[in-house]
Order: sequence, then C-alpha cells, then structure tokens
Amino acid sequence: MRVLTVVGNRPQFIKAAAVSGPLRREHEEVLVHTGQHYDDNLSAIFFGELGLDRPDRELEIGGGTNTSQTARMLAALEPLLDEAMPDVVLVYGDTNSTLAGALAGAQRGVPVVHVEAGMRSFDRTMPEELNRVLTDHVSELLLCSSDVAAANLQAESVRGVVEVVGDVMVDVALRLAPTAQAQTQTPASYGLKPGSYLLLTAHRAGNVDDPGRLKELVALVGALPKPVLFPVHPRTRERLRAAGMLDELERLDGLTLTEPLGYLQFSALACQARAIVTDSGGVQKEAYLAGVPCITLRSTTEWVETVGAGWNTLVDLDPERALAALEQPRPSERPSLYGDGKAAERCVQAIGRIQLASSAPRPASLQSGMVGG
Ligand code: UDP
Repeated sequence: MRVLTVVGNRPQFIKAAAVSGPLRREHEEVLVHTGQHYDDNLSAIFFGELGLDRPDRELEIGGGTNTSQTARMLAALEPLLDEAMPDVVLVYGDTNSTLAGALAGAQRGVPVVHVEAGMRSFDRTMPEELNRVLTDHVSELLLCSSDVAAANLQAESVRGVVEVVGDVMVDVALRLAPTAQAQTQTPASYGLKPGSYLLLTAHRAGNVDDPGRLKELVALVGALPKPVLFPVHPRTRERLRAAGMLDELERLDGLTLTEPLGYLQFSALACQARAIVTDSGGVQKEAYLAGVPCITLRSTTEWVETVGAGWNTLVDLDPERALAALEQPRPSERPSLYGDGKAAERCVQAIGRIQLASSAPRPASLQSGMVGG
C-alpha cells in the first residue's frame, strides 16, 4: 500500500518520527513537508535528531493567514495526489497542514487516516480546534491517544472507524527518555541547577497574536520566580519585537531567552525543571510523562487527563494563579494516560486493516470534477 503522509510543523515531525519507521517496514511512504515550519530549528533539526527520512516533497508553503496558507497547500497537494496515487493519506494533529492533507485526500476519494484524532479543547476560537474537528469528520480511520478522545468522536457521530491506539509522541518520549535523562549537564550549560528553574514555552495565536494578550504574557513572565529558561518560538519573537516588548524581556533578571531547542536538549531541560510553564499541547503531555508539574497558559486544554491527574493546572495568563499553582505539592500518583510507547505499531496495524476498503472502487463523484459544477 502507498501512504502519502503530510507533515508541516515541529510536533508533526516528532509524531511522524514515531510512525514512519514501522510504517515503512510494511508499506511505501511518500513524505510531504508543506513548509508550514521552515526555520531549521523548528524543522531540519528534527529530521536529523529523530531519524526521520528527508521528505520526498517539500512544498515550501509557509506564512500568510490560516485561510491563504490552507488554500495554497490544497492547491499544491492536488497535483501531488494525482501523481503519487496513494491508497491512504496520513495526517497528524491539528495544523493547517493536517486540514489541507485531509481535505485534499477526501476530495480525491482517498481514505484519510488521522493520528491524534478526537482531541478537543471545545474552544472554537482556536485555529487548531477548527482544524481537528474538520479533519476528524472527513477521516475514514481515526486513531486516538486516549479513551476521552474516542468518546469525543462518538459524541460527534463521526462516520469513520475510531480506534484508541495510544499517543505516538509518547513512543518517542519513552524511547528517548534515557538519553535525555543522561544529559545531566544540560541545565548547567545555561547556568541552571537541576530542580531549581522553570522552563517556559509560548506560541499560541491566542496568546501572542493579540498585543493585549502578549502584554499580559510578558507581565506573567515578569512575575514568575526566576530562574526561567525561555526557548522562544519564531512567531513569538516576531510578535514581541513588533510590539516593542522583546527588549523588556531581554533585560529581565533571571530570564534566559534562547532560540528553539532540539528535541533532546529540550527534553533534557524539561525532565530536570522545577516546573514547566507552557501553552503548547505536546509539552503538557511531555511534562506529565517526565513527572514535572505543568502550568498551562490557557483556559482550556485538550489534554484534560493531565489536569484530572493533578499534574497540570490551567491558569490562562493570570500571574497569581500561576504562582499559586507553583506552590502546590506534586501529586503522589502518576497513572499511565496515553499508552505504553507502542502506539505507532498499533497505527500501522490499523492502517493495514483499511487496505481492503481502500482498494474498493471509488465513487464516481469523488474521482474527479467539482461538487456543484
Ligand atoms: N520542543 C522542542 N524544542 C523547543 C520547544 C518544544 O523540541 O524548544 C518540542 C517539545 O518537546 C514537543 C513539541 O516540540 O515535543 C511541541 O511542539 P509545539 O509546542 O510547537 O506544538 P504543539 O504541541 O503546541 O502543537
């Protein structure tokens, strides 16, 4: 079977690094990089570090609004699908690349497989939420990280097949945990002592695109106990610079700003942090796996299990709530929430089971032409 995988941003390279190896042992994979993330330290570094093969195609579609970016991806994917003739289109997560890959596949009548299906923050103002919901409803096979995700899909009556396989990022995190934990010198290279510092990431549109929210974020960073290490996402750096707030942060005592880090370096710093402060989805999950408390700079999360287990606190951009959360004792238990590190193998098995269905003739209306003339 030929699987055309569409990836485009940092967490998707990590997810694809988990699945691509086992997938290629049984099937042919055509890996397409949309170019949504193009900086080397958000893209190239992950291919080298995580052993993901170079993409077969690079579409170089970054920048622009969500709508224009998605539209350009769709236009570029259509001829690629004609040429590659895949049996399945595989997408991950919740980005514009996910939606474009899913929609292009569905419009061509190719079964779409969505890994990390069913995640919901129930906040439709988040571009990611819109991408997830739409992708799930055009997918034939919906592979979920948790039972909660599967229940969300049942509640929405999706028409595809739903399976809980566990989380593929957990596969990578568990595989590389010993290597990351062995990097005990990494905090010292930033002048930090293990267990004494906060690791911060922030890049969500809801926190950095609106100047008012960005100002609140900067105030919160100012209020956090130091030392704080902040690998700054290019989107955030650009917004801070445009709002004239980057200098203010650079001058803050005890705050170290860096470029985005590679996966291993970031994991080494994460597992030795006192706590992690973030608005990332993947980082909330990784904090839980590492047994490090997480303070989430959002009012909702799709990783609800980490909150339920007491390891993750949603504080939005409220400094008082963040400080109070940092004082909370660590919970005594940390049950396994997102699988056993074998999610990728289950994904590949599930993809194999749709092989028969995909070889059935496609409905004529989906083979060509446009809906509505
Ligand atoms: N990450 C990284 N370097 C960094 C910050 C994050 O390698 O400087 C990794 C992190 O370990 C996690 C992923 O990037 O696996 C999360 O990506 P991001 O926060 O960009 O996206 P989200 O998960 O919010 O979609």
